[in-house]
Formats: sequence, C-alpha cells, structure tokens
Amino acid sequence: MPKIVILTGAGISAESGLGTFRDVDGLWTRYDLNDVATPEGFARNPALVHDFYNARRDNCRGAAPNAAHAALARLETGLASGEVLVVTQNIDDLHERAGSRAVWHMHGELACALCAACGARWDAPAATRPEDPCPACGAPTTRPDVVWFGEMPYLMDEIFEALTDCDLFVSIGTSGEVYPAAGFVRVASDAGAETLELNLEASANVLDFDQQRQGKATDIVPAWVAEVLGG
Ligand code: NAD
Repeated sequence: MPKIVILTGAGISAESGLGTFRDVDGLWTRYDLNDVATPEGFARNPALVHDFYNARRDNCRGAAPNAAHAALARLETGLASGEVLVVTQNIDDLHERAGSRAVWHMHGELACALCAACGARWDAPAATRPEDPCPACGAPTTRPDVVWFGEMPYLMDEIFEALTDCDLFVSIGTSGEVYPAAGFVRVASDAGAETLELNLEASANVLDFDQQRQGKATDIVPAWVAEVLGG
C-alpha cells in the first residue's frame, strides 16, 4: 500500500496554462458548469459538451508538465516502489507525461471516451461527437470519459483504502470545495496519517490539515519533494 497519498487538483496544472475553475479569463468562465459538467447538460445539448471537451483536449495537447508535476514524478522514483500514489481530480495527462506511473484519475480522463450505453472506454481521438459509434456495442452514444457533478467518481473504494493506510496525505492545488475529494483529508487524518496542504491560498478546508504551505505549485512542490528525498 502507498505510504504517501497525494491528491492533486486544477492548481497543479495552472502554471502549465490549463485553467482552474476560478481563472478570470479561463475556459470555465465562458461556459456554465451546469451545461458542460452535468449529465443533465449533456442530455440537453451533447454537441456543446463534446465541443467543450474537444477544446480542453486541444489545450491539454498544447500544454507541458511543469516543475510541480516533475517533482512528484521524482518523488515516486526516489522512494521505494509503490510508496507514492497520486490521486488526481484533473482530467489532463500531465502527471503521466511528467513520468508519474501510479496515477489514479478519479474524475476520468480527456484521453478516453466512454459509451453511455454499455460503459466501454477507449482512447479518444482528437475530437469526439455524440453520434460516434461505440467500438464495443456500436451504439451512437459516445460521451467524454469525465465524471460530472452528480456522478460517482472512479476508484472510490480503492482510494478510501489507500487513505486509511497511508502515513502522509498531501493535497496540492485544490480548493477543498468539491466532494468527495474535499473529505479525503479527514479520512486520512482520522486513520492516523499526517496531513499537509500545498496551495496558492488557504483552501476551504485548510483547518483540517496538520500543516499548510502557500505559494505557487512550481515553487512549493519541488521544495517539499527535495525535503522528503533529503536533497
Ligand atoms: P479549483 O479551480 O476549484 O481550485 C484550484 C485551486 O488551486 C485553488 O484553491 C487555487 O488557489 C489553487 N491554485 C491556483 N493556481 C495555483 C498554483 N499556481 N499553484 C498552486 N495552487 C494554485 O480546482 P479543483 O479543486 O481541482 O476543483 C475540482 C474540479 O476542477 C475537479 O472536478 C477537476 O476535475 C476540475 N478541473 C480540472 C482541470 C484539469 O484537469 N486541469 C482544470 C479545471 C478544473
């Protein structure tokens, strides 16, 4: 079981140019979340939702991992195999492109498409459309493989098991406002883990953490990793 569980959010990818929810001129501000990040919005206008995630896939392809993603990859290779697990709310693939191997995408991945009829998942092409046929069942019911508000995140049982068994829980670049991820710190803490928040500003649940450091992810994450690796 991992000894360090790291939860990441949009803030770790902000300096790679991928907007957080709160960026004043970000992609999110031009769309209503209810339209593009809920099952009801998808039912109302699937083409709009595909356009939104196609644009995000395009942004993601043009972005590169930053020093914070790279530091977490160094942490994983610098410790014994299996000791570090990244649980990310992000749907980008910047952790993987930085070299992290143990990455769980609890909110899905831009890189994947999902069949709303049979649940099959496959590698998404650059652009998807609602009428694209599922490669498994043939139904024209393609959707982004993204967990929307009101849907159950992936791997929850496995994540809770990892949280209750870790020695250290670290939250990076997440506002602490979106559940269930915002509750992970309490689960880990109640099970005896140390907890640390690394964020630009105090999150909504900063008081649940034993320690907190504020600053840009590209500054504070490499600094913390260097401390852990003793360098
Ligand atoms: P959020 O936008 O609610 O909060 C981001 C947090 O990051 C804020 O607290 C902010 O202060 C902090 N932050 C911003 N810039 C930072 C920086 N340079 N260094 C460190 N911290 C910084 O994002 P969230 O908490 O991840 O919200 C959860 C939802 O947002 C998830 O569902 C996630 O899927 C979605 N999301 C994902 C992406 C992505 O995949 N890149 C982008 C936007 C939103």
